[in-house]
Amino acid sequence: MSTPAVRSIEEPARKIPVSAEYDVLVVGGGPSGLTAALAAAEDGLRVGLIESRSFVGGNMTIGLPVLGFLGQKGNQIIDGLPQKFIDRLRNERDGASEHRPCPLHMGITLVEPEAVKTVALEMLTDAGVDVLFYTFFAGAIVESDTIRGIITESKSGRSAILAKVVIDCTGDADVAYQAGVPTEKGDGNGGMQPPTLMFCLGGVDTDKLRMSIANTPREARTYLTDFIPAEYFGQNHQFIVVGLRELMAKAKQERGLDIPNERTIIITGLKKGEVWINMTRVKGTDGTDARSLTNGEIEGRRQIDDIVTYLINYVPGFETAYFTKTAPFLGIRETRRIVGQYVLTQEDVLSCTHFDDAVAVASYPIDIHRPGDDGCTLIWCGDCYDIPYRSLVPNKVGNLLVAGRSISATHEAMGAIRVMATCMAMGEAAGRAAKISVRGNRAPAEIDVQELRRQQLERGVYLRNPDGTRASAPDHKVVV
Ligand SMILES: Cc1cc2nc3c(=O)[nH]c(=O)nc-3n(C[C@H](O)[C@H](O)[C@H](O)COP(=O)(O)OP(=O)(O)OC[C@H]3O[C@@H](n4cnc5c(N)ncnc54)[C@H](O)[C@@H]3O)c2cc1C
Repeated sequence: MSTPAVRSIEEPARKIPVSAEYDVLVVGGGPSGLTAALAAAEDGLRVGLIESRSFVGGNMTIGLPVLGFLGQKGNQIIDGLPQKFIDRLRNERDGASEHRPCPLHMGITLVEPEAVKTVALEMLTDAGVDVLFYTFFAGAIVESDTIRGIITESKSGRSAILAKVVIDCTGDADVAYQAGVPTEKGDGNGGMQPPTLMFCLGGVDTDKLRMSIANTPREARTYLTDFIPAEYFGQNHQFIVVGLRELMAKAKQERGLDIPNERTIIITGLKKGEVWINMTRVKGTDGTDARSLTNGEIEGRRQIDDIVTYLINYVPGFETAYFTKTAPFLGIRETRRIVGQYVLTQEDVLSCTHFDDAVAVASYPIDIHRPGDDGCTLIWCGDCYDIPYRSLVPNKVGNLLVAGRSISATHEAMGAIRVMATCMAMGEAAGRAAKISVRGNRAPAEIDVQELRRQQLERGVYLRNPDGTRASAPDHKVVV
């Protein structure tokens, strides 16, 4: 059957106002956009940040723990601005836990979504970043293969924002894509990790949950958790449960529940009795397509009732649980990735590769919620790997940087670098690179990366020496 021709109309050309002009413009206020804007603004540049929603924080506001602060050897491998953010969350709002070791996720840092929104916004405004909410990136202004600004759509209509450097932190590489940067999507067949509509339950006895796992004899396999020994739950009151596969299979069989996931994933909240559930799974969703996103929201919401039925009737500690809320939006794991000056690969991740132009260190395993079935692939490298600056620099279009999950990486490497502490570390590097670019009047692709690394070290960023130890800042006066 042939596809019907897409109807179209001609949009007349029109003049639009230039609503703002910045040294550095950050598009998207998620984990990477937050730190990109803070780093770019650290010594007085004019920095703007646009965000389509009414708050900053991105996926850090949907009930997820921040992963990536601790490495596979147990040491902290992300510091600098991400750590400052967590400190302020914890000290001012009781909005973050310690970085807690976890055998499966290496380290988990629980955060309170509302505190994230408040503290992130306070840090941005304190730093002088001009934040504009309710404003959607709609197009790139490109002249001679160089981005000069963007076009936005909002209640105020269509307008232009000009900037010397633009940092794309949309997660979807929206800016890079519209500007003409080559991008890729998903695995070799276009399959992308499925999204999840997170939701929250109250009234959960999390001590009963964890002790029932800890005290279950080995042969009682219904409480088996993936990669996390049962004893761990006896010692930790903040945790993520991943597994309980047989319990869920039993529930599906006995009650005919429709849960398209093999695993139970429960994340304790910071508030007593509160847990976040990461179990809806909407295969085939394209996070860059409004119709597909809408269908994803509908299907994600549809799945919640059966998951709640399962939890309340089968999982210890949920007997008096009640549904409280869904996350503010469908969580998108994967969409576009740019093709940049270097494409980070699975081999780089698994061989713990060092790069001379490393601007961040990561350690999270390759963790792919497989697009084609209900399972997950997890592969650890045993230590850390570097993220090279070149993976933040797109091909073809100048004055543009990309940070966050859409950097230049393969589908497999993206499965590792996508966690939020790593995204914050990349954002910090991109923001500082943009600052150096503007101050030195050089394109981001031509800045002195060793100078960037020096500045990163001087600002407390974690980088590695070739022997794997933490690099320290050389005695060097910053001249920018
Ligand atoms: C269900 C799920 C579970 C996950 N679990 C974990 C976990 O447990 N721990 C962990 O650390 N990571 C987890 N991740 C991964 C992590 O959340 C993301 O990879 C990470 O948040 C990406 O950060 P980012 O800054 O690139 O993008 P995002 O967090 O997606 O932020 C992008 C921001 O840009 C804005 N934006 C997008 N497009 C536009 C536009 N056109 N105009 C204006 N603004 C725009 C968005 O509103 C958003 O605020 C999970 C992801 C999902 C979806």
